[in-house]
Amino acid sequence: MSRSAHPAGPRHADVLTEGHYSAPAADLNALDEKVWSRTVTRDADGALTVGGIGVARLAEEFGTPAYFLDESDFRARCRAWADAFGPDADVFYAGKAFLSRAVVRWLKEEGLNLDVCSGGELTTALDAGMPAERIAFHGNNKTVAEIERAVEAGVGRIVLDSFQEIVRVAHTAQRRGVRQRVQIRVTVGVEAHTHEFIATAHEDQKFGIALADGQAAEAVRRALSLDGLELIGIHSHIGSQIFDMAGFEVSARRVVQLLAEIRDEHGVELPEIDLGGGLGIAYTSDDDPREPHEIAKALSDIVTRECESAKLRTPRISVEPGRAIVGPTAFTLYEVGTIKPLEGLRTYVSVDGGMSDNIRTALYDAEYSVALVSRTSEAEPMLVRVVGKHCESGDIVVKDAFLPADLGPGDLIAVPATGAYCRSMASNYNHALRPPVVAVREGEARVIVRRETEEDLLRLDVG
Ligand SMILES: *Cc1c(COP(=O)(O)O)cnc(C)c1O
Repeated sequence: MSRSAHPAGPRHADVLTEGHYSAPAADLNALDEKVWSRTVTRDADGALTVGGIGVARLAEEFGTPAYFLDESDFRARCRAWADAFGPDADVFYAGKAFLSRAVVRWLKEEGLNLDVCSGGELTTALDAGMPAERIAFHGNNKTVAEIERAVEAGVGRIVLDSFQEIVRVAHTAQRRGVRQRVQIRVTVGVEAHTHEFIATAHEDQKFGIALADGQAAEAVRRALSLDGLELIGIHSHIGSQIFDMAGFEVSARRVVQLLAEIRDEHGVELPEIDLGGGLGIAYTSDDDPREPHEIAKALSDIVTRECESAKLRTPRISVEPGRAIVGPTAFTLYEVGTIKPLEGLRTYVSVDGGMSDNIRTALYDAEYSVALVSRTSEAEPMLVRVVGKHCESGDIVVKDAFLPADLGPGDLIAVPATGAYCRSMASNYNHALRPPVVAVREGEARVIVRRETEEDLLRLDVG
């Protein structure tokens, strides 16, 4: 994942060898449209605006830190995915990236389906009116109570993840006198992350049932033999933040091979395959994600070709983008506090949030970009590390970036592309109050998930 080092000026010579950052952008005030949501721009005074509202007003009205979600961008991305895949495929938004009742309503209005992987996500989806038949239920350890609720609600599919679960779901459905539509999640021996994929030996993980050793074929045999189950397809999910389509190619080929084996053994052609999610987005200017229509074409070409050579009817394809829909639509707004220049190293810029609102940098060494957004500046670039206020030296939001050297306490900075896996992974570490999510659209801003309060903390703590 690391990028090549570029000379950044003699001031930074000592850290150049670490080389995890690019040279500063020619103009630090420029906003790269790849990493910012679509309605973000700077106003005449140089302050960032989203949906036509300036960050000074947003900070005053909603406080910092806060996530600002560009609703029209979110809806446009939903439509782009739905249009790219067309009527013969299904797009499931992966709710774990970020889920709230407003989001569920937008998905419903834009014609998308929804993946959930816990009772909490299922409750949110149903409460906001997502029709159960448009919900898929995932997870490697669904509880019996969760399975019962999902079957009772009538979810469109449960993705079976183990031999034990095949039996659990079948029993639950049979007791209720229904046939539950299911897919079987297989591990195809491919693991893809970012720009690389590895095509061997990745059965060593907690998800799915291995294609290798005939495990998946055995799972299919069992599922087909149980009255409570209607096996509609095979599911595969190979990784996250993927740019290289080669991993999907291998995965699709292996899934289609399994469909052919199932046809040969059982005389049934399963009608669906799900190729999972994991499509990458731009977190920094160095990332070049593909457009949904390119991804749709690549996937459908692969599946069509493989099915032709196996003489199978082409199954209905589904995909499950989470990050690729919501990730680029939000930024986190922070206020700058303490600034510590470390001579010959870098400058530590502390913000009023941190690992409690964005754990990804600490958890996966994720890379982000950052910009001064309350004003523009003509000052020289300085190499910074943006850190939080938590009691942990790994509490880093942006590991290496450039901000103007005249940055000071009270300035507002924003980290783009925080729509996915930031609020949904937020914690209360140090009794931090989890930030609000504010939806902004056409000059209006409204809270869709409110900020936690100290009363919330005390309410959970029952003494
Ligand atoms: C996490 C997950 C997704 C979504 O991944 P993104 O990287 O957000 O696109 C889709 N399907 C399954 C089964 C997942 O576990």
